[in-house]
Amino acid sequence: MSSDKPHLSSIVQQGWQKLCRLTSLYINTSVRLTVTSTPHCTKSVEASPECCQIKRHDGSIFGYLTIERVIESHDIRPLTTLKEMIESDLKTISEESVHSISSPGDSTRGLEKILQTSLEANNEGVLLLNTDGEIIHYNSQLIKMWNLEPLVKKDASAAELSDFTKSQLINSSLTIKGYSEKPERFSKNQKTDTLYLKDGRTIERTSLPVIEKEHTIGRVFSYRDITPERQTRQELEEKSNILDTIFDQTPIIMMLVDEKARIEKMNKPGAELSHFGSDSDLVGKLVGDILHCVNAYPNACGTTPNCRHCAIRQTLNRTIQSGTGEYKVEGTMQIKHGNANITRHVLISSATIQTSGERKYLLSIDDITERYLAEKSLIESENRFRNLFEYTPIAYQSLDKNGCILDINHEWSKLTGYSRENIIGQPFGKIFSNETKELFPVVFEKFANEGYINDLELALERKDGQLITALVTGRVQYDKEGNYLRSHCILLNFTERKQIQKELIQAKEKAEEATRIKSAFLANMSHEIRTPMNAILGYAEILNQSVTNPTHRDYLSSMQSSGKVLMNLINDVLDFSKIDAGKLDLKESPVDIRLLMKEIVDTFRLKASQKGVRLLIEISESTPRVLQLDELRLRQIMLNLISNALKFTDKGHIRIDVSTTNLGDTSSTILLRVEDTGIGIADKEQKKIFEAFEQIDNQDSKIYGGTGLGLAITHRLIKLMGGEIRLESKVNKGSTFSITLADITVVKDADEIVGQKKSNIDNRIQVGTSILIVDDNRANRKVTREFFGGSRVKISEAENGAHALEIMRQMEPQLIIIDLRMPGMSGFETARSIKNNPQWQDIPLIAYTASELTAEEKEQYPNLFKALLRKPIERKKFLQTVANCLPPVNEKNNLRLQHGNESASAISEENEHELLQKWNSMQRIRPRKMMKEFIEEITARTEIMHDPELKSYLQELEHAFHTFNIEKEETLFHAFPEIIARLKTEKL
Ligand code: ADP
Repeated sequence: MSSDKPHLSSIVQQGWQKLCRLTSLYINTSVRLTVTSTPHCTKSVEASPECCQIKRHDGSIFGYLTIERVIESHDIRPLTTLKEMIESDLKTISEESVHSISSPGDSTRGLEKILQTSLEANNEGVLLLNTDGEIIHYNSQLIKMWNLEPLVKKDASAAELSDFTKSQLINSSLTIKGYSEKPERFSKNQKTDTLYLKDGRTIERTSLPVIEKEHTIGRVFSYRDITPERQTRQELEEKSNILDTIFDQTPIIMMLVDEKARIEKMNKPGAELSHFGSDSDLVGKLVGDILHCVNAYPNACGTTPNCRHCAIRQTLNRTIQSGTGEYKVEGTMQIKHGNANITRHVLISSATIQTSGERKYLLSIDDITERYLAEKSLIESENRFRNLFEYTPIAYQSLDKNGCILDINHEWSKLTGYSRENIIGQPFGKIFSNETKELFPVVFEKFANEGYINDLELALERKDGQLITALVTGRVQYDKEGNYLRSHCILLNFTERKQIQKELIQAKEKAEEATRIKSAFLANMSHEIRTPMNAILGYAEILNQSVTNPTHRDYLSSMQSSGKVLMNLINDVLDFSKIDAGKLDLKESPVDIRLLMKEIVDTFRLKASQKGVRLLIEISESTPRVLQLDELRLRQIMLNLISNALKFTDKGHIRIDVSTTNLGDTSSTILLRVEDTGIGIADKEQKKIFEAFEQIDNQDSKIYGGTGLGLAITHRLIKLMGGEIRLESKVNKGSTFSITLADITVVKDADEIVGQKKSNIDNRIQVGTSILIVDDNRANRKVTREFFGGSRVKISEAENGAHALEIMRQMEPQLIIIDLRMPGMSGFETARSIKNNPQWQDIPLIAYTASELTAEEKEQYPNLFKALLRKPIERKKFLQTVANCLPPVNEKNNLRLQHGNESASAISEENEHELLQKWNSMQRIRPRKMMKEFIEEITARTEIMHDPELKSYLQELEHAFHTFNIEKEETLFHAFPEIIARLKTEKL
């Protein structure tokens, strides 16, 4: 302590010195106090000096008080307090010096008082010992700090006090130093140590010598409770440790950098990643030395503050600019990895760290490459799907549980004209057309309940008012509990197709109409042509017998053969146009396939032997006996194939094979093969020959004849039967036509079934039922009568309408069958006359006709007739229709009554076979001579049977033949198998 003494009395001077000394003691630990007569503020800046004037009581300046903080302490009294204390003591001293200047002891007491007051004002415990270790002074803080109150009260010795303080220490060797250690008491050094108390407190002890005239006269101990300070320091240390651990253990690169991005500290992961041994190797380096953006020039990164490409610079710059903020930027960086660089996607964040007077920046670099790549690929895949969804050429919509639109795609907007913004959340029903709007709730409820909708046609109204038809297909998505979640629907614009469909239907109707007209025209024409042709051919045949001139005979023969070709052509054209117009219906019935094949083959035997060609037939054993087939059409197919084979084969053989595959209990696949060793068909011709009017190029039609329609008809008939035909052929080696007919019903116990059916049908018509047949054609009347052969009914015949009404007045029939085309009163007129009579109103009428009804007739017929029968008709169908028009019967009783009517008439199997074979061979070509022979053969073979109905049939046929009534002859000829069937059944 230095002091420029003021001019005061010696006592005051003495007191001043003492004051200075003691004051120095009192504040030794935390501050240095200087009192000077002149202002003295020249101490170093770090010590934070403070200076003030000390005034005497009279206002004059006593000196200047300067306080220097030696260490940071919270409990230093403010300078003003010290100043006040000193000024108050000065006043006391001056007063005392005025009143008792002669007594130096008084002034010393005064000074002691100042000292005491000063010491009391201190927060630290103060103890003053003389060199003998005696306590000169202590303050109340010391008593409090060491809990010495009780001992002081009982006037304990210094030794007792010392022991008591010792007992409070954790380590008692650290006692109140200086007291017991003699040399310490005389030490001129300042000493500081720390005492740890059992109650957890920590006390810092400082001791200073009291020196007078260069002799140590005592020692001052000051005790400061630094427990809070220590705790704070400890906490700070702990926090710092935690932060260091976090810094080093966080698996991302973290570094402390300055404004220039110069590294001051790097955490362990950072040092490891960049292959720097430790962070100390990195200190002072630029961030760019270990980390830079992909475009950076080598070593250029981290040094250019304005680099716009560098994510690090961007974050750092922003943080620097903001001063306090924290910023994050993502970017692709190259990280120095040993000698190489690795490219990684990183998330860089920087934050300001304010230290005393300086700003640092914490840079964190998180390697998010994996997440970035995953997110990138997810975004890419999402974009891909979104694009697919948006731009797929199919409109898509998703509806919520109320039928409101959740989502749509671009195509949907195109289809409806509504954009996403003005349709999302709206009910889908909004775009239903005005006519169908009320349908929406019904349609949606059904969809939500059933979970799907398929190809539902909806009439919708576009935003611009245009009506469109959409084809909607959708599925409902339910949650785990089965509740409606959302639905997904696709909409196809069906408007154009709907229009096309409409036009197609119209076109089809027109085409059908045209075909119907064409068919009707063809049927008429063929009829018109066939009738005179029949006469031409008939007369040519008659002439043939009388003409003897060879030239004329030659002409006649040419005329006949040309006529036959023409007839064939007409028949084929008729068949072909019928199939083409879809007018040809298959009529299936149980067919004995072996018998049929044999019959067909037999018709060619004579011709084959004349040509010297072997005709072979092989029917596999597994082939079922009876199959459900259209006999007439199968016959036509086989006749065509075999006749072609025979036509184009001059040597070798023709072989017919019948076999089965997939033989099941109820159905089977039938394979039919016609193989020949004839001229064969070239590859290029093979497809063509199934087309109409196609014959092989350069084929001499004069040699082979034919119309080129046979295979076209065959092909179409097979298709109609659900089968297919294949051809394998080699020129000059031969041809094989193979037919496959799949799923052909196998008829078990065929005879029984046929018998049962017949008996059942007959039983359904009450014995004794009176039936009137009205037909101008006698043969037809006969055929109709014969249909009732097995049923014991009473038949009357009328040859025209008037005749019918006449018969009815005498005998009222229970059913009337009326031919529609009759001369005089037509069938319709006759029916109308009957129905006009109230007595006959309830008699059921059946219309029977070979011709098509006109539109007008079609309209009228249901009012007059109960049913319409078309000629020719099968017996079974005929009887079924009749039975349906009559009241139901008791079949058992009826059957009993039927037995009495069993006919003795019968036909032998041989006769039946021969006649049917002949009939078969005449299916396509029926020269008059052959027809004549056929009639004669029937007559001869059935003569012994004395069957009156058969007889009248033959008479009719003969009459038609001789009068060239070709139509009647046709009808009768086609009815022949029915006649035979009846004769055969009669026998059973
Ligand atoms: P066509 O009535 O002229 O015989 P098809 O349609 O039955 O008419 O036959 C068409 C053509 O196919 C015949 O003209 C003939 O050239 C050829 N063809 C048919 N079958 C045979 C066959 N078995 N051998 C050689 N050629 C055949």
